[in-house]
Amino acid sequence: MSIESNAESLSVEDDPPQSAATCLATAAPSPAPAPTGKASPAKTVRFPQSRRALEFRKRFFPQAGQSDWNNWHWQLQHTLRSPADIGRAVNLSPDERQAMSGHSGGLPTAITPYYASLIDADNPAHPLRRTMIPSMAELAASPGEAEDPLGEESQSPIPGLIHRYPDRALFLATEYCSAYCRYCTRSRLVGQIERKRYCWEHWERALAYIRETPAIRDVIVSGGDPLTLPDEALEWLLMNLRAIPHVEVVRIGTKTPAVLPMRITSSLTKILRKANPLWMSLHFTHPDELTPETAEACGRLADAGLPLGSQTVLLRGVNDDADTMRRLMTGLMKIRVRPYYLYQCDPIVGSAHLRTPVAKGLEMIEALRGHVSGYAVPQYVVDAPGGGGKIPMLPEYLVARADGVLTFRNYRDRLYRYPDMLE
Ligand code: SF4
Repeated sequence: MSIESNAESLSVEDDPPQSAATCLATAAPSPAPAPTGKASPAKTVRFPQSRRALEFRKRFFPQAGQSDWNNWHWQLQHTLRSPADIGRAVNLSPDERQAMSGHSGGLPTAITPYYASLIDADNPAHPLRRTMIPSMAELAASPGEAEDPLGEESQSPIPGLIHRYPDRALFLATEYCSAYCRYCTRSRLVGQIERKRYCWEHWERALAYIRETPAIRDVIVSGGDPLTLPDEALEWLLMNLRAIPHVEVVRIGTKTPAVLPMRITSSLTKILRKANPLWMSLHFTHPDELTPETAEACGRLADAGLPLGSQTVLLRGVNDDADTMRRLMTGLMKIRVRPYYLYQCDPIVGSAHLRTPVAKGLEMIEALRGHVSGYAVPQYVVDAPGGGGKIPMLPEYLVARADGVLTFRNYRDRLYRYPDMLE
């Protein structure tokens, strides 16, 4: 689906301000969906709605109006979780049905109504469907897979904070996501709402650790998805991070613009604007995610002054062909997102059916470099198992070195010689 296709600009209501009921004291410890009601007509803005989403809403949520659909609280309240819910919108295959009913513990299944509207109801091989609906392959462990392949637990000085690189810390603000990706690196943590692993007390302790560690100049707020937090809680956290003198950069990692674009409300962008300089890494998987709604969400974030970079996990049968990858990367540029990282899929337990050989990732970079603008070429990295950090992977372009002359091949496999300088 392209951004231009099916675009239908409708006048709908923006998200109303949060009520006093979602005050920080009650909202911060629990990242569960905030209480909602029908959106009140606080402020009218234009938010596009694709014809596909419109038809989906009328078919599966006939009682909901446009203002409900465009209210992120309504989307969270109506998230599809059970086989029965999902089976209403998607014709589940026997394999998917068996996987969902045999699934116990671990990564839950959840799909926002908005994201469900992008899924092909009749094709189990549809790329977005494979990233959201479990299959039996997910229940099988393969050699080399681990619950915590990146060794994050061993680099976590206190719960909810990972300190791997000297000058950066990862602040796991919540374990809640509005939709759960089957390949999530933190599948051991996310979605375990009843465990309330990240609570107010952990936030305070994580902030204290950062305050006491002057080497940390860059904090990445992630999770789970921090944009699922209530406005007041997110604002409190960002402002407290901003108040630490040695924290120069704050970043947010989120998939919200892809799965819940209506969350990018004017009240949220006001908060984000206040927290500038703030960077944002947006998780995208496939060009089908680049809808008019997502373009609007990214436009609002960019207008709030946030530099936007993308993160994509390379996935077998989802985005591991050159055409899909080109459409995704060039499509991201069109919605003001700079392709940043292409990740080799981490070997979490039950991920073999989604992982590709590393050679496939190198092939993807070759298919991009020289064929699209340099801004559209992400950095391909393997996150080293055990906590070694990101290892950049590049196709080999240097083919020979002799007598002070380097021989390179270019993107068309033509050879060029460069007179290198002596030391
Ligand atoms: S949005 Fe991010 S944290 Fe949440 S399930 Fe997907 S990959 Fe994991």
